[in-house]
Amino acid sequence: MTRALITGITGQDGLYLGELLLAKGYEVFGLIRGQNNPKRALVEATLPGVKLLTGDITDLSSLIRVLAVSQPDEVYNLGAISFVAYSWENAHLTSDVTGKGVLNVLEAVRLYAGDDLDKVRFYQASSSEMFGKVQQVPQTEDTLLWPRSPYGVAKVFGHYMTINYRESYGMHASSGILFNHESPRRGPEFVTRKVSQAVARISLGLQDEIVMGNIDAKRDWGFAGDYVEAMWRMLQQDEADDYVIATNETHSIRELLDLSFRAVGIDDWSGYVRQDPAFMRPAEVDLLIGDASKAREKLGWTPTVGFPELVSMMVASDLAEQKTAAGI
Ligand code: GDP
Repeated sequence: MTRALITGITGQDGLYLGELLLAKGYEVFGLIRGQNNPKRALVEATLPGVKLLTGDITDLSSLIRVLAVSQPDEVYNLGAISFVAYSWENAHLTSDVTGKGVLNVLEAVRLYAGDDLDKVRFYQASSSEMFGKVQQVPQTEDTLLWPRSPYGVAKVFGHYMTINYRESYGMHASSGILFNHESPRRGPEFVTRKVSQAVARISLGLQDEIVMGNIDAKRDWGFAGDYVEAMWRMLQQDEADDYVIATNETHSIRELLDLSFRAVGIDDWSGYVRQDPAFMRPAEVDLLIGDASKAREKLGWTPTVGFPELVSMMVASDLAEQKTAAGI
């Protein structure tokens, strides 16, 4: 039985990856942080069969212990502080968790592997936010990185540290440069879920308006369920490498609003949307669009869910959730 350890098991991607690996017959271990983690029940309900181990990616000794207990063949490092806006207000913490946390996991994996580096393969969740003020359109694995937030800077540190462990020690360490990927499991602080939830509530008469930041930014949004498949494929390759995972389409927040409101039969949404500087960021990533040709060629990976289907899926899920909550 192949064994995998997932950090960040409580997040959107951790849940999808856990499901994927369990379906493949893996024994799955998840790292869970803190006493009485409020998301433990969610993980246990979504992933019965996953074994949760307590630890923290900022605590190297806990990682050493967890690796010794789980004896993994594959380690997926998805744990991070992942919300860009929050990272300006908590820059040191973000650097410690999202940046230095990667080094801790890499180092724990290196110590666990000892002389037998083939024993374990490592995946790092890198991010399109590393491209920030984009230096090339579309962005590839070779595009110069120019992060625009403490989150982006921390991800760049983790990305290069992963490459460094691969080159220094010959570790099978791969980095997936994942563009934005969403689902009904996305946290409500992210713009897609914020919009799908608000639109569902507005259509049911439970909310009057939605307050937004910059609606002209553009993102390359895919479906998280597709993206975890790419993570797994990376670790099945003979050689570790870095891959952009994206849909190669970009859409603005305006288009997101258009499609979401249209999904509930509202064509003119201008009366429901207000902009507030409180949601504007000190620096913005204006445009992201990824070129995933390398992943297509080497991993045989392509996205299966397009932007309109993704939006419909999220709005439908939130409508159902809101109706249940309101007893409608
Ligand atoms: P990110 O790409 O990881 O920062 O993902 P987000 O979903 O948080 O943000 C995507 C884009 O939506 C960014 O350019 C934000 O500035 C923009 N945006 C506009 N209004 C909002 C809002 O109310 N909340 C969030 N989270 N983002 C917003």
